[in-house]
Amino acid sequence: MKLIFERGGEGHRSDFLPKNAFPEVQFEERFQRTEKPALPEVNEVEIAQHYTQLAKQAFGVSNGMYPLGSCTMKYNPKVNEEAASLKGFTEIHPLQPAETMQGVAAMYATLEKYLLEITGMDHVTFQPAAGAHGEFTGLQLIQAYHRARGDEKRTKIIVPDSAHGTNPASAAMCGYQVVNVPSNEKGGIDLALLKEAVGEDTAGLMLTNPNTLGIFDENIEEITSIVHEAGGLCYYDGANLNAVMGIARPGDMGFDVMHMNLHKTFSTPHGGGGPGSGPVACKEFLQEFLPGRQVVCEEGKFRFARQPKTIGSVTAFDGNALVVLRALAYVLTLGREGIPQAAENAVLNANYMRVGLKDVMDVPYEGPCMHEFVASAKTIKKETGVAALDIAKGMIDCEMHPPTIYFPLIVDEAMMFEPTETESKESIDRAVEAIKGICAKAYKDPEELHHAPHHAPIGRPDEVTAARHPVVRYEVKEEE
Ligand SMILES: *Cc1c(COP(=O)(O)O)cnc(C)c1O
Repeated sequence: MKLIFERGGEGHRSDFLPKNAFPEVQFEERFQRTEKPALPEVNEVEIAQHYTQLAKQAFGVSNGMYPLGSCTMKYNPKVNEEAASLKGFTEIHPLQPAETMQGVAAMYATLEKYLLEITGMDHVTFQPAAGAHGEFTGLQLIQAYHRARGDEKRTKIIVPDSAHGTNPASAAMCGYQVVNVPSNEKGGIDLALLKEAVGEDTAGLMLTNPNTLGIFDENIEEITSIVHEAGGLCYYDGANLNAVMGIARPGDMGFDVMHMNLHKTFSTPHGGGGPGSGPVACKEFLQEFLPGRQVVCEEGKFRFARQPKTIGSVTAFDGNALVVLRALAYVLTLGREGIPQAAENAVLNANYMRVGLKDVMDVPYEGPCMHEFVASAKTIKKETGVAALDIAKGMIDCEMHPPTIYFPLIVDEAMMFEPTETESKESIDRAVEAIKGICAKAYKDPEELHHAPHHAPIGRPDEVTAARHPVVRYEVKEEE
């Protein structure tokens, strides 16, 4: 596909740009260009065709099923986009006096109230821009708490071996040593090994429940008590909140601090690199350390206030406000009944898909699962040479996004499926049939799968070279 700079031709113009609303300024001569800028010269048709072609190169939740495990790639209702484009929210500045931003302040305060109800926590900061950023922030709160008590010996964070890679990475970024605890045969935390791991040097535990195997840990209250008894705090990675929202609350499970991924659970398109939002919620005793500023309501008026022992700021101003707005629109539309219903349907869909695939793939952990499950291509690989990667690439030819593969690390040839609640029974049936077809092909024509996808804009990119030696600059060919 051509770049927009290579399209069009000299003198091609379109005039739908808005008129300049700012006063003209005459710059000093030394600041003026001596040559025309190298801008594309294209007309309206060429622009429309360019962006339509570009959109066809990509795959999103509006193209087809996107069962990317751990990512909750559900459909985002378009009406929430409309809410996020309202001028009252888009045409303000965070440095405006609070009296002139009462609507935005009310938005933060209202969503905070609902998120606290969903999580069983006491306070929220909306500053963090993503889940991983929330983990970092939450661990900073844990660190500030221990330091404020003069407890300097707590240098370790416990992380189970099924954890998302961001968990140990965030702990390391906060200067903690990571202690890995293996899972038991059911996929949960091994209590005996956890008891051995905790001690006077434990700052805390990071856990997602349900975990990345899609398993709800039935010992969760015992797990958080073991950590608390050792003097540590419990961090809940809320990326899997979609499975339990409105039904079970991390605050009730014994967690002290957590993040939510508004872009996963609460309706913001994601996967393209942002903007996202990973608000952190905490129990009362951690409030004094929260970053940024919080909205406070006094006599019907909102104002912003900082905490006495704040850890500082983890981003500019109040985070990504429009992601918060989409989340508020989403929570208000679903309501007290819709939120748990979405979670139940997510769990139902995952179980339906799991059972559908059980005949053709290994499913190492017995169900029922929560919102996602991990299958394995171990047997297929042994018998045909076709690996999880090949099956995933084959799915692209069936107009589906592949699942997450080779994660979690504790399952060989892992394929982690999360169909989400927004897929219909018919669409899951189609996906299961397509995957069964791919598995059958593995036995008949493995070579074809080794070279899949055959109908995508690109085949198999060299991901290692792309990561090690990225070419991020495009050379425009000079005309002769
Ligand atoms: C997605 C995810 C994260 C990280 O969230 P980002 O918003 O991508 O930074 C952390 N933990 C789990 C389990 C996740 O699925």
